[in-house]
Amino acid sequence: MSTKDWLSQLQTLDIGEIRLAEPLKNHTTFKIGGPAEVMILPKEPNQLCTIVSFAHKHRLPLRILGGGSNLLISDDGLSGIVLKLGGQMKTVVIDDERIMAESGVPLPFLATKAAEHGLSGLEFAAGIPGSLGGAVVMNAGAHGQQLSDSIETVTYCDVYGQKQTIAATEAAFCYRDSLFKHDQSLVILSVVLRLKKGNSAAIKEQMLQYKQSRQQKQPLNYPSAGSIFKNPPMQAAAALIEAVGAKGWQIGQAKVSELHSNFIVNLGNASADDVRLLMEKIKNQVHKQFQINLEPEVLFLEDDK
Ligand SMILES: Cc1cc2nc3c(=O)[nH]c(=O)nc-3n(C[C@H](O)[C@H](O)[C@H](O)COP(=O)(O)OP(=O)(O)OC[C@H]3O[C@@H](n4cnc5c(N)ncnc54)[C@H](O)[C@@H]3O)c2cc1C
Repeated sequence: MSTKDWLSQLQTLDIGEIRLAEPLKNHTTFKIGGPAEVMILPKEPNQLCTIVSFAHKHRLPLRILGGGSNLLISDDGLSGIVLKLGGQMKTVVIDDERIMAESGVPLPFLATKAAEHGLSGLEFAAGIPGSLGGAVVMNAGAHGQQLSDSIETVTYCDVYGQKQTIAATEAAFCYRDSLFKHDQSLVILSVVLRLKKGNSAAIKEQMLQYKQSRQQKQPLNYPSAGSIFKNPPMQAAAALIEAVGAKGWQIGQAKVSELHSNFIVNLGNASADDVRLLMEKIKNQVHKQFQINLEPEVLFLEDDK
């Protein structure tokens, strides 16, 4: 089926806003990424499920973007459908210690909301950009806490457009990992979190401290995707990168931050290839010197070759 054919079918459905050849660099914190052939911004879960089942039925590539804060997207862009969440689907309902939130809610906003209600457990998320959906997929975490510590259930849409709910224990959460990271056909709609009652002022103070510490230690004035490599067991990736002398290394417009060695920053016009080559160079040097394999934390999206 040609793009023209499936697109004209798609345009007859109630699915939200459709954009053609949308530059993906405008949707990633790295400010890198070529055009999305078709980007759709659904407004509510039923529209999202319609898109997912349509893509499956017509065997179209489907990629999901939350805040785009953990992604490196090819300069050639992505064919098929890119489903953009984060602008919409932001309902939050608080009931005693439980929060039900839709996947498009920005994680820092949710953390602030929890703090205002005197609920503890999301303090770590104060400075982590992106959406709740992306944070579930990545099992985002910091300061010894991670999102899965608070998740009760996750509701997602399967490839047939059916809503399914699973308990956190079924979602294979571990360090920056989950079932959803390995099965990208499952699109997260909403999450139920269970937090603990605490003192609102103390929670807010803790969040402020975490944010201030990030401002001091991370190169937040440049586009990036946060930590580029995962920490190997019992090691800090930043320390290994610094130890091999990679701080300040630069390829094209991609540079290893002088402030935090596990950040690669975009100096202005970096390409995805600049970043990938730099990552490869760091990985090789760390392996040569320490026999440790650094694993990327950032996810690379490109068309199948
Ligand atoms: C300055 C900076 C600091 C950071 N600090 C941290 C940190 O301290 N700790 C940490 O863990 N991370 C950190 N990150 C990385 C990033 O913010 C997190 O991984 C974040 O949770 C990703 O959310 P997102 O919505 O941006 O996901 P995206 O980057 O958009 O997507 C990530 C993955 O999730 C998938 N996805 C997104 N939404 C959905 C959905 N609704 N359903 C199914 N799949 C979906 C995408 O397809 C992709 O596979 C940092 C990033 C930056 C730029």
